[in-house]
Amino acid sequence: MRLSRITRIAAVAAAVVVAATACGGGGSSNLGSSGTSPSVAESPTFPAGTTMERLASAGTLRLGTKFDQPLFGLKGLDGNPQGFDVEIAKIIAAKLGIPADKITYTETPSAIREEVIEQDRVDMVVATYTINDKRKERISFAGPYYIAGQDLMVAADNNEITGPDSLRAANAKVCSVAGSTPSENIKQYIDASNLVLFDVYSKCADALRTGQVQAVTTDNVILLGLVDQSNGAFKLVGQQFTEEPYGIGIQKGDVEFCQFIDQTLQEAAANGSYQAAWESTAGKVSPTTPTLPEPDPCV
Ligand code: GLU
Repeated sequence: MRLSRITRIAAVAAAVVVAATACGGGGSSNLGSSGTSPSVAESPTFPAGTTMERLASAGTLRLGTKFDQPLFGLKGLDGNPQGFDVEIAKIIAAKLGIPADKITYTETPSAIREEVIEQDRVDMVVATYTINDKRKERISFAGPYYIAGQDLMVAADNNEITGPDSLRAANAKVCSVAGSTPSENIKQYIDASNLVLFDVYSKCADALRTGQVQAVTTDNVILLGLVDQSNGAFKLVGQQFTEEPYGIGIQKGDVEFCQFIDQTLQEAAANGSYQAAWESTAGKVSPTTPTLPEPDPCV
């Protein structure tokens, strides 16, 4: 599984570089009309006492997601976020008999994702959320449904920063988000005094625009969305240096719900709604439609 993941990462990395180059001239994609309408199950039934039964009978789903990340979760003019993460949640909701307009959204910046699940403020978090052991101490993950990798975003005319190993020589200030895996990973490449942390990535993009930092680091596909919106001001460095499998965060130990989500994702990949979810969102910028990764065991 590990090998196949790495192969896919290479393919995604190549696709991301191509897309970033293609978008180098600026002009953001029209993501305002993003979205699909997966067919909603009619009165599905689930075993008593399961999360599926509770949600299906409530008829609503409380989703934690990002509000400022183009392609994955970006709040639209109608007040609802749009993007691949939101589409994944819509597929799961539809299988529970819950239409998209019965999903309620809570903004979940990176640092509070475990907390909102633990405090039962949301039913699931789909928010560019890397599966890792530290997080698994507090919550469980279904998935992965996508595998990203950490990269760097710099000003379009910056040729000094070519990858993480070039950051120290450039004495670059690097921006990331508190509570994210990239903010931890980057510490081995730079001095602590050069790491700038905000709560959300849009603030890092602002800091790059004003020259307060020389690079922004997070997952390649998040950066790709910010590059796409930058009117040619930013570029992706294109040297992916980690593996970030995105999972769906749920209450710790809810094995049945995890298995239900994994099965729903498998079905979506088989019937094309997973691919449609990508193509209507991130696929507008990143041309290679991913293959659904093998699920991790539900624990
Ligand atoms: N995937 C990474 C993480 O879960 C970075 C993206 C984010 O902060 O949402 O920490």
